Amino acid sequence: LQKKGYQRTAHLSEADVVLLVTCSVREKAEQTIWNRLQQLTAMKRKRLKTHTPMKIGILGCMAERLKMELLEREKLVDVLAGPDAYRDLPRLLAVSDGGQQACNVLLSLEETYADVMPVHHAPRGHSAFVSIMRGCDNMCSYCIVPFTRGRERSRPVRSILEEVRMLSDQVNCNVNIKVGWKNSCICNHATTE
Ligand code: SF4
Repeated sequence: LQKKGYQRTAHLSEADVVLLVTCSVREKAEQTIWNRLQQLTAMKRKRLKTHTPMKIGILGCMAERLKMELLEREKLVDVLAGPDAYRDLPRLLAVSDGGQQACNVLLSLEETYADVMPVHHAPRGHSAFVSIMRGCDNMCSYCIVPFTRGRERSRPVRSILEEVRMLSDQVNCNVNIKVGWKNSCICNHATTE
């Protein structure tokens, strides 16, 4: 998005686009987003009367799991992007310029965002999490992850090392990088330091 001219703001009142990154692993996480959406849609309604309209986007697992409900219940949501559709965000936002809701919740067998390095906006202390894989093939009966994150695939080692080096340079001191074996797993299989 930065490459397309979008800039981050620390003030919600200044934002032309508000993107909510969502999680569906627990009901409470989804409820938090529904509550937040109510606040944002109220704000958007007020802004519709001004010259600074606001777009609302839902990203991640809730977009994947509840796409129809979100689009139909929340008419003021402009963009839905599933966990494998973040590269499509500039196009989705452009589509929504015309006033229609834009949605991409296609899951990918290959997407790992290996070439997209995370941007940190605040000091994160002396440790950081590095994702080494996405999705899951295990299909545990109580878990939503295989249905919202898709099939299991791993990041190339080169890209993992590049991120670890980048984090190490940014923190500029001794750093423990915690690498989750299954980063998206609620059963928390293993962690290495
Ligand atoms: S609990 Fe963990 S292993 Fe089981 S389906 Fe969910 S992510 Fe996969």
